[in-house]
Amino acid sequence: MKLRNLAAASLALLTLTGCSAEKPQSLEIYAMNTLMSMSAYGENAGEALAAVSARMNELEQELSVTITESDINRVNTAAGKPVDVCDDARRIIEEALEISAQTDGALDITIYPVVSAWGFTTGEHRVPCAGELSQLLELTGWEEVQLSGSTVTLPEGFEIDLGALAKGYAGDCAAEILSGYGVSSAVLNLGGNVCAIGSKPGGKPWKVAVTDPGDISAYLGTLTASDEFIVTSGKYERCFTAEDGSTYHHIIDPATGYPSENGVASVTVVGTQGILCDALSTSLLVMGEEKAYAFWQEHGGFEMIIATDDDRLLITEGLSERFTPQNGHVITIICAD
Ligand code: ADP
Ligand code: MG
Repeated sequence: MKLRNLAAASLALLTLTGCSAEKPQSLEIYAMNTLMSMSAYGENAGEALAAVSARMNELEQELSVTITESDINRVNTAAGKPVDVCDDARRIIEEALEISAQTDGALDITIYPVVSAWGFTTGEHRVPCAGELSQLLELTGWEEVQLSGSTVTLPEGFEIDLGALAKGYAGDCAAEILSGYGVSSAVLNLGGNVCAIGSKPGGKPWKVAVTDPGDISAYLGTLTASDEFIVTSGKYERCFTAEDGSTYHHIIDPATGYPSENGVASVTVVGTQGILCDALSTSLLVMGEEKAYAFWQEHGGFEMIIATDDDRLLITEGLSERFTPQNGHVITIICAD
């Protein structure tokens, strides 16, 4: 499954960086459990990308659930006792809890024990029985996470994982670094989280391809973007087919403990804050078409593309002039009222 992941990421980059006279500085690293491909233009591009790469490695050391002595690993190991965390961890946890409240718990960083039981953390996939899942769900619940200043306390037996929004936060950090180096033209693909910084050399917006969840070697269409994050969560990302013939994927509905199955195959969120786009792409996938629409209507501040299992493609009205469907995909534009 990892191979599928990498293939999708590199294909997207191909589209992103093509057709330019000026040569970019490019860098590929493996950090935060994913392939990160980065291209930047201009004088300081090489230096800026090196600084971004160092920052991505720093974030991995702080946030990885598996690295012993990472801030998150310390919180999990000491569940039941208060633990001081770094500013990055504090900011992500704070944002996660806020989105959990807004999405009625569709995003839940305490879902980690359930994600582990399915084998998504090790790659040793299995289908837990209903009894095991209901027992594990007793050890989840975002409302139980106590955050006071930079001190985090979990109930005993709880574990958190910031995987649903950490790459989005990493995108925000990367954008800030690039801007500090005066880079005004860059595109980063942090494992499906695309950061379109400024515009292409020459001033045209970046073109970002959105993977077709029904055929990951193809695209639903392309989107023009500048100074924006384009983040997709899809059922195709990390999945396995079990002996019973069913396919299970890595985004869990915290209400049931099972991978979300509500007719939505992928959600792409477009906006100016990476962490929010990442948190919402995961949440809206869990929420399904109708709740996602209601959330967008109520909160606004972002655009989205929903691809359904039955091949429908819904896009919010702000993208109508910017999204070009491919391969005969028919789009339905959704409006605020
Ligand atoms: P990806 O990391 O593949 O880009 P997401 O941003 O949607 O995709 O994050 C999915 C990851 O978040 C999963 O691999 C799992 O570790 C964790 N996760 C799964 N379900 C949830 C959930 N409902 N709330 C919070 N985190 C989740
Ligand atoms: Mg996410």
